[in-house]
Amino acid sequence: MKKLILLLVLLTIVLLFFALGGHEWLTLEALRRHQAEFAALRTRSPWLTAAGFFLLYVLVAALSLPGAAVMTLAAGALFGLWQGLVLVSFASSLGATLALLVARFLLRDQVQHRFGSRLKAVNAGIQRDGAFYLFTLRLVPVFPFFLINLLMGLTPFPARRFYWVSQLGMLPGTLVYVNAGTQLAALDSLGGILSPALWLSFALLGIFPLLARHLVRLMQRRRVYKGWHKPHRFDRNLIVIGAGAAGLVSAYIAAAVKARVTLIEAGQMGGDCLNTGCVPSKALIRSARLAHQMRHADRYGLHATQPAFSFRRVMQRVQEVIQKVEPHDSVERYTALGVEVLQGHGRLLDPWTVEVNLNDGGCRRLTARAVIIAAGAEPLVPELPGLETVDYLTSDTLWQALAQRDSPPRRLLVLGGGPVGCELAQALARLGSEVTLVQRNPRLMPKEDEEVSELLKAALTQDGIAVLTGHQPLRLEQDDNGKRLIVRHHDREVALAFDDLLVALGRRPRLTGYGLEQLGIDTDKRLETNDYLETLYPHIYAAGDVAGGYQFTHIAAHMAWYASVNALFGQFRRFRVDYSVIPWCTFVDPEVARVGLSEAEARDRGIACEVTRFGLDDLDRAITDGADHGFIKVLTVPGKDRILGVTIVGEHAGELLAEYVLAMRHGLGLNKLLATIHIYPTLSEANKYAAGEWKKAHAPQRLLAWLARYHRWRLGKKQPRGPL
Ligand SMILES: Cc1cc2nc3c(=O)[nH]c(=O)nc-3n(C[C@H](O)[C@H](O)[C@H](O)COP(=O)(O)OP(=O)(O)OC[C@H]3O[C@@H](n4cnc5c(N)ncnc54)[C@H](O)[C@@H]3O)c2cc1C
Repeated sequence: MKKLILLLVLLTIVLLFFALGGHEWLTLEALRRHQAEFAALRTRSPWLTAAGFFLLYVLVAALSLPGAAVMTLAAGALFGLWQGLVLVSFASSLGATLALLVARFLLRDQVQHRFGSRLKAVNAGIQRDGAFYLFTLRLVPVFPFFLINLLMGLTPFPARRFYWVSQLGMLPGTLVYVNAGTQLAALDSLGGILSPALWLSFALLGIFPLLARHLVRLMQRRRVYKGWHKPHRFDRNLIVIGAGAAGLVSAYIAAAVKARVTLIEAGQMGGDCLNTGCVPSKALIRSARLAHQMRHADRYGLHATQPAFSFRRVMQRVQEVIQKVEPHDSVERYTALGVEVLQGHGRLLDPWTVEVNLNDGGCRRLTARAVIIAAGAEPLVPELPGLETVDYLTSDTLWQALAQRDSPPRRLLVLGGGPVGCELAQALARLGSEVTLVQRNPRLMPKEDEEVSELLKAALTQDGIAVLTGHQPLRLEQDDNGKRLIVRHHDREVALAFDDLLVALGRRPRLTGYGLEQLGIDTDKRLETNDYLETLYPHIYAAGDVAGGYQFTHIAAHMAWYASVNALFGQFRRFRVDYSVIPWCTFVDPEVARVGLSEAEARDRGIACEVTRFGLDDLDRAITDGADHGFIKVLTVPGKDRILGVTIVGEHAGELLAEYVLAMRHGLGLNKLLATIHIYPTLSEANKYAAGEWKKAHAPQRLLAWLARYHRWRLGKKQPRGPL
């Protein structure tokens, strides 16, 4: 409604402008004809004339009316060079910003909604380089002033930045025009103001920022490569170090586009995910879940029973699952795909040469035009006094260490309440371990919202785990009485006895031992890359856990696409890695899945949002399955159905989230989800109901009141009661 009113007001002003002949006043001829009158007016009341001129200029610019160029000349003619320059510079920037705001208010949402996914790249480009582009466009006065204002209004470019970049960028052009205005009598036409030489200077000025950026990049490159001797010829197009998710996908893509690629793996093909991460942990979780269901079979009308099992057999199954998945990542498969696979330790000798110490003896030296580092991460082990004296486990060693045991650890202490710690703590507790989980942070999985942490804590506690949040580990002790972790809680030291300790404090990128230090690459925290996944050396790329802030298999694969495509085709076109819609799931019971913003993140970043919730206890299928707990929480742009983030806690949350990931990736709002048929009775119906909750909260109350009246009226007039 507000938009309609504004549109009407603006249209009226524009129509009035033309109807009253405003456009005839803003021409070079009219200016010349009336110059003497204007000059007299200015002599009589200089401040009033200046203020009136300023306001008129702002209005012309804000309404995108024709005549801004003539008014700039008029400023020179009336006020002289410097005063004219100041007046026009501020008035044009202010008017342009108002035009931007009007276009934004009236049109941006519709345009973004309509072309949402297609505009993603444009939006990202504008966010990143918008100031550069705008500056260039402003410097070269060939680009219509009003068009730039309106088009920028449709993008997310911040208005304040738009103002100052415009003011700065338009200054040279304004100077030329105002100066020309001081010579108004000698001027034949607007076209005569800019000579070809001046046009060229503006054009050069305009491309200067882009040129400068390119030059800076070139100089940085030269500096980095200084002192290294680049081979004239290469054996390979691409060498990939590490055959985990990132390395495998990189090599796969390179082979698919017929590049000569060598994949080097020092350990087991498939890396962390297949051998010590996702696959074994999910296999263990499955067995643990079954044991849990048997124990609580009475919830489903059956006899509850203590599951009888051999832990050794459970761990054997975990290995069988790995073996079943193994062919997907095998040397045979990749060789058949056209990848040369070398099993050995790779080390960069110089930026283009990799030496491979083969596992079965021998050494090879290879050169490649591009290299992808996909060396992954390893468990983070803290510097905790006494830790070296106890035989602690990590997610890397756990699988082999426990494989030989007939029963699970009797008293297991898990250090770390992140995803890995929580998943393994719950699985082993359900398989019979007495588990204590120690977390320094006041809550579990602190990246998620507080209510998620609370729900998770309750679930783990129900599984019999002693969850000790806010406990600071101090040291480990071992004597005849056994092993203990000493923790501090509320200024008090507490000893926690255990038989086995699992250190699950996160994973640290693998950065040393393969030549990065010698190349001068920073090996402090993680392999630093730019948006194209280039490291310090633009032809050496990084993908996966070694570089990523998001340590997940699907993100490693996602990054691998960018790294390999940029490595092989970057000379034609480079792609910036897109982290805009990143989903993940922690496979505890109930599962915790998220994409986009959490409520806490939105709050911390000052992003306005509406929160819609749907409780899974209301969902028919969840009730039939005895899974009627948890929730879906959707964050949307205030007043709109555009999704900013979703958190799901519940059974199969990871699967349920996929619909929201698709929606966010392709700019589909909750209305679209609501208009999609979901099968009854499925868990996925919960997504539709969440969208329904949003819709209910946005029902047009006034219209509904009118509809109620309408329907009452349709019932017909009440007949007066006649005599019986
Ligand atoms: C217990 C656990 C559970 C997990 N569960 C999930 C999950 O459910 N979902 C999910 O998405 N993620 C999960 N992850 C994370 C996931 O495993 C990783 O994000 C993923 O494996 C990263 O892949 P990558 O290719 O970057 O590294 P990696 O898989 O670690 O591969 C790197 C490879 O490089 C090799 N390498 C290193 N240096 C050299 C060298 N110099 N020469 C030759 N080879 C070298 C290593 O041997 C390794 O095989 C889990 C992790 C753990 C620990």
